[in-house]
Amino acid sequence: MSDAPEVKSNFIRTIITEDLSSGKHTTIGTRFPPEPNGYLHIGHAKSICLNFGLAREFGGTCNLRFDDTNPTKEETEYVEAIQEDVRWLGFEWSNLFYASDYFEQIYEFAIQLIKIGKAYVDDLTAEEIREHRGTLTEPGRNSPYRDRGIEENLDLFTRMRAGEFPDGARVLRAKIDMASANVVMRDPTLYRIRRAHHHRTGDAWLIYPMYDYTHCLSDMLEGITHSICTLEFENNRELYDWVLDTLSTPCHPRQYEFARLNLTYTVMSKRRLIQLVQEGYVSGWDDPRMSTLSGIRRRGYPAAAIRNFCERIGVARAENVVEVEFMEFCVREELNTTAPRVMAVLNPLKVVIENYPEGQVDEFDFPYHPEDESMGSRKVPFSRVLYIEREDFKEEAPRKWFRLAPGAEVRLRYAYYVTCTGVVRDEQGEVIELRCTYDPETKGGWSKDGRKIKGTLHWVSAAHALPATVRLYERLFTKENPLDTKDGTDFKDHINPDSLTTVSTCLVEPSLATATPGRNFQFERLGYFFTDPKEFGPKSLVFNRTVTLKDSWAKIVKNA
Ligand code: ATP
Ligand code: MG
Repeated sequence: MSDAPEVKSNFIRTIITEDLSSGKHTTIGTRFPPEPNGYLHIGHAKSICLNFGLAREFGGTCNLRFDDTNPTKEETEYVEAIQEDVRWLGFEWSNLFYASDYFEQIYEFAIQLIKIGKAYVDDLTAEEIREHRGTLTEPGRNSPYRDRGIEENLDLFTRMRAGEFPDGARVLRAKIDMASANVVMRDPTLYRIRRAHHHRTGDAWLIYPMYDYTHCLSDMLEGITHSICTLEFENNRELYDWVLDTLSTPCHPRQYEFARLNLTYTVMSKRRLIQLVQEGYVSGWDDPRMSTLSGIRRRGYPAAAIRNFCERIGVARAENVVEVEFMEFCVREELNTTAPRVMAVLNPLKVVIENYPEGQVDEFDFPYHPEDESMGSRKVPFSRVLYIEREDFKEEAPRKWFRLAPGAEVRLRYAYYVTCTGVVRDEQGEVIELRCTYDPETKGGWSKDGRKIKGTLHWVSAAHALPATVRLYERLFTKENPLDTKDGTDFKDHINPDSLTTVSTCLVEPSLATATPGRNFQFERLGYFFTDPKEFGPKSLVFNRTVTLKDSWAKIVKNA
């Protein structure tokens, strides 16, 4: 993709602008409400950028709220990772809250609902409740327990809390309408009995409120004005409003839905990502091939590129799938201006410059960025024995081969012109070394006589280069929509077996000895690479390829 779309306004911005100018609100409050049951992914970035971005833009507040009503799947590890991810994206919450902070208040609201005859304890089993619910085309049937008296309901609900009944024996349901066209409104469950240890409240509670019931009340308690969520909650909006209306709460946040982010060749739901981790398809949640924020961070995607990407894809109500190439484009664009350039050779071929004096070293001063002097420069040594990329030499050069071949002259980046005068072979006849001459008059990589050279190669000095490990990543899935099950396959059937290549032959220029973990570089002509945040150190130069310089994937797929 070459042209970036314009930054556009969106319907939520429009609504907020109207609400502020009409005086409906004097300030806005939003929230980002993840369930701490896994690591955040790139889809969450869209929601984070939207919620925090709107608060920032309109001078309002944005809370980070953990929707922790499902104790069996939630863990403190996730709570911590989520905070780290939000901060990494460049946002800070106005308040940090947990839905579990409100358990007592939410319980009191349930008591109120019972007292006004709007909630009842149901003894039907989960299976029976399902049977009574009806279908999209048929109305549901009332539970035989629906008309229990208020006193009996209060008594049973209090005893549910006190632990008098086993798990699943009873639930509290809203008394709405079993014939509603919206299935969500057919007396939804508000509370269930669940003897499970909660990551924050421990064993204090044996009953847990359901998501729909908790969410609107949490929003209300926090004074959220615009409760923004993804489209799958559209049908739940009626229940959201019912709870707040029925309880006549002092404020009533409004829910707005937008289309979730879908990316080609990518799986995003936590439920599936956890399988990739637990079944060992990847090294962990932060494996650089993962769509998690910790994965793309470890791969070297800059947060600014992700914010930019989220802004450009826009916010709308129409479902669509964004091409992963577009995200990569945003990453490249950011790194093009911010990543220092260095030289590294992945697959080295030895070059001896025969007319270069033995023992001599030219110490060049190369800029880190050709268009940004402020990045400074580094020293790069040039000597008689160098390495170039094996792919940059061909004995039988085809037409329009501008790299090295017997008799050909090329430029070594910023250094000199060299001409290949011969080759050395091993016993199998394979070329293991090139013999070259250099032209001392071309120092700096240009010739005074105006001789035109088309090819420029990157190189490292053999005596000075440092060994490094480089991990090359390809897409984790080979299918554009791994979740498409029409052909009877599972998303894991489409995992790319070649998504990770570890290159141990890499040699990098000596300036990288002082690099620190978590830095972006461009390896000239090869792509953008990131010093691994966990494994990079002075004695272990480990780089993750963030993205290639140009998209090569489309071609690979076409030729396959
Ligand atoms: P998952 O299916 O990955 O578990 P979720 O929707 O269950 O996602 P939550 O932790 O409940 O995850 O989500 C927190 C917020 O992020 C919600 O408001 C949700 O709508 C939003 N969100 C989740 N996935 C996406 C996505 N792909 N695009 C945009 N927003 C998303
Ligand atoms: Mg969820």
